[in-house]
Amino acid sequence: MFVTQSSSRSAGLGAGRFSFQPPASTGIMQIEKNSRLLAIESSCDETAAAVVTRDLRVLSNVVASQAALHERFGGVVPEIASRAHVSRILPVIDEALSRADTKPEDLAAIAVVTQPGLVGSLLVGLTAAKTLAMAWDLPLIAVDHIEAHLYACRMAAGHDVFPAIGLVVSGGHTNLYDCRSAGDFELIGSTIDDAAGEAFDKVAQILGLTYPGGPAIERAARTGDPSALRFPRAFLKDERLDFSFSGLKTAVLYEATGIPGSTRQPQELTEGRVADIAASFQAAVVDVLAAKSLQALRQFGRKALCVGGGVAANTVLRSRLLAITEDIELYVAPLEYCTDNAAMAAVAWEHFAQGHVAGLDLDVRPGLVRRVSK
Ligand code: ADP
Ligand code: MG
Repeated sequence: MFVTQSSSRSAGLGAGRFSFQPPASTGIMQIEKNSRLLAIESSCDETAAAVVTRDLRVLSNVVASQAALHERFGGVVPEIASRAHVSRILPVIDEALSRADTKPEDLAAIAVVTQPGLVGSLLVGLTAAKTLAMAWDLPLIAVDHIEAHLYACRMAAGHDVFPAIGLVVSGGHTNLYDCRSAGDFELIGSTIDDAAGEAFDKVAQILGLTYPGGPAIERAARTGDPSALRFPRAFLKDERLDFSFSGLKTAVLYEATGIPGSTRQPQELTEGRVADIAASFQAAVVDVLAAKSLQALRQFGRKALCVGGGVAANTVLRSRLLAITEDIELYVAPLEYCTDNAAMAAVAWEHFAQGHVAGLDLDVRPGLVRRVSK
């Protein structure tokens, strides 16, 4: 969750063709499997750099989380995030190169996440990447953060996983994609208000739990009863593949603090009650994410499901997805690649292999998700 004036950092996107379109291709390239790529990620509140080979071996993966800086605000403060990126980006890149025992002359290219995200944060990563690409005379490759979250599944699988349905559930996004191949994803559904991770963060705040909310809710829910309270599950019976979590968040708020104007006092928020609310909230989110993923698989006739983003670290969600996908291939990003990291930006190799290299006039696209009509 961001601390901004707007109520939500997610927006209704509706369905549409989303395809990250790097600059025009200069032709298919053969790349040696040991070639090394430096990847840089700074789209939100993690400053990250990684060195990944063409055959997707992660030689280093350095993530400097800013969670401690934003904790007392209950969400990411964009200005604090960009300032922290400025002071951390070069040490993080240095650390990634040294852990991978890699010198600039060993690199084949530099990849950088340019969309979507916080404008100030993205600009720090892009400026570092451009400067190094120019100083070291290396090709620069632009990467989409959401595409990278799904590519984490491909990296972990060790083989091609597309075509597939892609579910990205993070602090900023809850999106479903029809993924034809790495880099050719059609947006087929998204949240019309809060993202799932954002709901976890806000509900944790309501319940007096720590930030980030996802892990805190998951911990509290372990001793709670998921059927103690029946919270709303938006659009569950609808054909549409969209999500909505703000009604659920409000239901939790009313349950915890009482309904405004009502004379009925809410029950005391004991540890047991917090556990029941957390478990019932988590059950509602998991029900909806699982049901919409199944619906997308059926509607698009796909046989594989890729799941990425911070909320994919949730063990209840992971086991539910495993249980409902017996007849399809399930690829959930490994825990270290669920929350933001630079290793997953190795999707840049796919673009590089197609000859897609950016110029130094490359700019950031903070807007949520690019829609390109068919
Ligand atoms: P973004 O890129 O939008 O910043 P990330 O992919 O880094 O998001 O994911 C961060 C989000 O994931 C936060 O909202 C956090 O609460 C949520 N999250 C992390 N771990 C868990 C978990 N175990 N259960 C549910 N949500 C989680
Ligand atoms: Mg993310």
